[in-house]
Amino acid sequence: MTDLQALMADLERHMGDPFDDEGPLPFSRVLALDERETYPDEFVDLLASWGLYDWSIPVESGGRAVDIQDGFNLYRLVARRDPTTATAMVISTISFMPLWVAGTPEQRKHFADLIRSGSKLAWGLSEREHGSDILANATTARRTEGGWLLDGEKWTIGNATVADVVMVFARTSEKGGPGGYSIFAVEKGLLAEGRCEPLPHEPLHGLRGLDMSGVRLRDCFVPESAVVGKVGQGLEVALKSSHLVRIAITSIAMSCADTALRATLDFATRRMIFGAPVSEVPYSQRQLVESYADLLVADALTTGAIRSLQLTPEQSSIWSSVVKYFVPTLLQETLARLAIVLGARHYLRTHPRYGVFQKAVRDCAVADFADGNTVVNLKNIALQLGNLLDTAVTQDPGKVAGAVERTRALFDPAHPMKPYRPAEQQLFSRGVDDPVLALRSAVDDLHQAAAAATGTDAARLAAAADAAGSLADELDRIAAEHRKLFSDLGKSAGQSAELYDLAKQYTYVSAAAAVVHLHLHGHDSVHPELRSPAVLLVCLERLLKRFHPTVSVAGPREIAEVADALTAAHREGRLFSFRSFSVNW
Ligand SMILES: Cc1cc2nc3c(=O)[nH]c(=O)nc-3n(C[C@H](O)[C@H](O)[C@H](O)COP(=O)(O)OP(=O)(O)OC[C@H]3O[C@@H](n4cnc5c(N)ncnc54)[C@H](O)[C@@H]3O)c2cc1C
Repeated sequence: MTDLQALMADLERHMGDPFDDEGPLPFSRVLALDERETYPDEFVDLLASWGLYDWSIPVESGGRAVDIQDGFNLYRLVARRDPTTATAMVISTISFMPLWVAGTPEQRKHFADLIRSGSKLAWGLSEREHGSDILANATTARRTEGGWLLDGEKWTIGNATVADVVMVFARTSEKGGPGGYSIFAVEKGLLAEGRCEPLPHEPLHGLRGLDMSGVRLRDCFVPESAVVGKVGQGLEVALKSSHLVRIAITSIAMSCADTALRATLDFATRRMIFGAPVSEVPYSQRQLVESYADLLVADALTTGAIRSLQLTPEQSSIWSSVVKYFVPTLLQETLARLAIVLGARHYLRTHPRYGVFQKAVRDCAVADFADGNTVVNLKNIALQLGNLLDTAVTQDPGKVAGAVERTRALFDPAHPMKPYRPAEQQLFSRGVDDPVLALRSAVDDLHQAAAAATGTDAARLAAAADAAGSLADELDRIAAEHRKLFSDLGKSAGQSAELYDLAKQYTYVSAAAAVVHLHLHGHDSVHPELRSPAVLLVCLERLLKRFHPTVSVAGPREIAEVADALTAAHREGRLFSFRSFSVNW
């Protein structure tokens, strides 16, 4: 198992002090490149030379990715500095995913070698006219002697112009449909002149230095060896690739929130207002604590989700969509709240200390729409919701026992995992979502822990058990509303706005389950201050308030304790996560 803490500390050292203008990756240059809309070549090279790409390439293909939580957490450090650099690099690694899912060992090795030697990849899925409706995609691939002719346009493709290789999702059967698409690895350097042209650059609201463009393919010949997976397997491969990608992209949102919270905390502790620091104004302190708790909730959820790809790949379709919907949605609210604490300075683009805040806010939005927008992900949950609720509400003892067992490994970061085999991922979880199914059992464990504890801890654990129990009870109500919806509307309930609302509510319960399971099973990996039941209670309150906005379960003492944990994490240079990872700021 990788010594992730040492590895992350080494990467952070490599990036230097973010406020040292002469350092390797300072905020001042990040902001300058953003203002000039310049691709961050110097930072990509800096991180590639450290070996960052290796952590997203399987060992068999020459990389170092054993547990994918390693790469996920490394990218959090990069995106804290510069989400543009992180996105530019993540795009190459997500473009490699179809090869990891379905490529031959030779293909994987070939393209892994290209990435590791500095080539860039792009993932050409989207088209101007079709967006999320990928089965309407019109780019075609027609058989010809010795290979295929690709024709069509791919648009809003990150890295499309700078890339040496574009993975193209193209229609290989005239009638289209789920078996009518395939994926092609198009190496630009091997193409005849004029067959693959870049589309104009699209200036962006955030990630301003990113290469955002597209490609126009004109009867572009690629050899048979360019097909990734089987002909007709493109949709399955794209969807299986998306499971890791969706979770990975949320790391960018988490990093934006981490940076924004740090900048706001610096301001709030230094800025005196009416005779006291802003951070001591009770309302502002509570806003900071809520923001920290949001990040911890996101951390707990993604801790389980990224591990589920290896431990329970048959459930990854539900996990990836829960994370991709909930984490960016939650953290956009967090950023809006932090902007209120930071006040007028959050609006300044070039402030030496706080200018990075507005970039974090703009960049964070990429996690909303890249690789399946939030609505696509809600739809994926909605499609499976009936079965998931049936299993969760029925609480079959045999199924619960299995879920409890697997959940323990999911939320214990020290528990060893089998290697990542993305081809084993399933497109539907068939009604199984272990952490949610195991939530009621975890509530019992919290009650027992409360009975065994004394003093404040006992009271807090009992309150946490009650809060988690209330959140588990929401499943019964959601299931009842789900049944009523289908009995009232029949089949058309499947497209109703109400169903998507129920899917949203399911994600809140998932997040609560993650927080509880990490508290129970991740104990040895979690930083000692964050093992406190006060932290658990404050996090659960964040989720309970989604159902009952006026209910409070954490009192002033819990808020003060979490505020202290927040300032300690910042002062001691730790990532805003349950596990302790050193950061320069
Ligand atoms: C910065 C950036 C980077 C990108 N990088 C890439 C890349 O590298 N490769 C690539 O292939 N693409 C990329 N894209 C394209 C992006 O992934 C797609 O545009 C997106 O997934 C398709 O969704 P859309 O937001 O365009 O919305 P559309 O699919 O056009 O849908 C419009 C709206 O309909 C609503 N809606 C209602 N019901 C549904 C439903 N069931 N499903 C979906 N939406 C619904 C949603 O609100 C949605 O916003 C990138 C885009 C940007 C801006």
